[in-house]
Amino acid sequence: MTAQWQERVSLKPFNTFGIDVKARYLALAHDDDEVRQALALAAQRQLPVLVVGGGSNLLLTRDVDALVLHVASRGRRILSDDGERVVIEAEAGEPWHPFVQWSLAQGLCGLENLSLIPGTVGAAPMQNVGAYGVEIKDVFAGLTALDRETGQLRDFTLNECAFAYRDSVFKRNQGRWLILRVRFVLSRTLRAHLDYGPVRQRLQEQGVQEVTAQAISDAICSIRREKLPDPAELGNAGSFFKNPVVSVQLAESIRARYPSLVAYPQSEGQVKLAAGWLIEQAGWKGYREGDAGVHRLQSLVLVNYGQASGAQLHALAQRIQADIFERFGVELEMEPNLY
Ligand code: FAD
Ligand code: NAP
Repeated sequence: MTAQWQERVSLKPFNTFGIDVKARYLALAHDDDEVRQALALAAQRQLPVLVVGGGSNLLLTRDVDALVLHVASRGRRILSDDGERVVIEAEAGEPWHPFVQWSLAQGLCGLENLSLIPGTVGAAPMQNVGAYGVEIKDVFAGLTALDRETGQLRDFTLNECAFAYRDSVFKRNQGRWLILRVRFVLSRTLRAHLDYGPVRQRLQEQGVQEVTAQAISDAICSIRREKLPDPAELGNAGSFFKNPVVSVQLAESIRARYPSLVAYPQSEGQVKLAAGWLIEQAGWKGYREGDAGVHRLQSLVLVNYGQASGAQLHALAQRIQADIFERFGVELEMEPNLY
């Protein structure tokens, strides 16, 4: 097929914050050939490229003087099945949550805790998406990417992806590799992860007798629908800040002043703090300035009430960062990718 591309296009439908900036060019790529054609067009016009999937981890602060390449490839398949371990593969443009639901419908376990995360399969490795105690690295079997420096295809193993908390080799080398398809190794036997947040309690409330992967997925979807704003109704990009990992000493000094501090021990004398808790303590929950604000139920989520610009949201985020540092001595790192 031939890649379709347009000039001077609004990116509002391509980012979940709903920011209305324009792309110099927008190309939709449905397969590998179209990806290569779009990249060739950008090279010919000496334009940088911004790859976009669902735009749910993106804050656009200005017009994009580049070729925006929207990955729209589709396809998912079972690659191998030994009766217990099953390797599946999906094209990068597959929407994530329907892909999770499809895996559950095949009787496969492993992705249930990652239900209802927006975005695409191809972007999931970028920040090693995670929720409710599971990250994709836990079920990752490999991926195929196009190396934009050499034009060659490359397969990545788990180790080569260097996955970490909301991080990967792809995020640290933005723009180098364009992820084309991703593989996961799932299992026919459930190893349930229920100890994170209110998952176990929700299953009990729902009267679930037999805990299946589908039941866990349903419970997580119901929790998420209650707590998180739906981007279709209120622009947002999920958590705006990563949870900071700090020294035990710093955590204890904060706890001396705030006994209700939420902290989770990590390895090597480190502690993970809940960024949302810090922001809430500092009084930002529900704060609104024009159309940019902090969600009233979840202070980790910045929201666009309608006409906020990316620059306004970015400025609000920077004020929150400065305030949290001043109050707690903790540096908050932004999670979404900024353009
Ligand atoms: P985009 O926003 O389109 O892109 C993100 C980055 O990846 C950009 O730098 C882009 O250039 C790059 N990229 C996109 N596609 C490719 C590709 N094929 N190859 C190479 N680079 C690519 N995240 C979590 O980890 N856990 C959660 O629980 C979670 N919950 C969320 C809830 C809400 C309501 C929202 C709005 C967001 C949430 N997120 C969460 C963040 C986001 O959904 C994920 O990070 C998701 O994987 C982003 O996918 P996307 O296709 O929208 O990526
Ligand atoms: P929550 O359940 O209110 O918990 C608050 C924070 O505490 C979470 O961020 C989580 O860290 C941490 N936490 C909770 N239980 C933990 C445990 N047993 N061990 C270690 N850390 C624990 O969180 P929430 O905001 O409603 O989100 C629920 C899950 O969905 C979290 O995993 C969160 O990361 C994920 N989520 C992510 C995004 C995003 O955009 N990245 C958006 C919405 C939800 P972690 O974040 O490190 O898991």
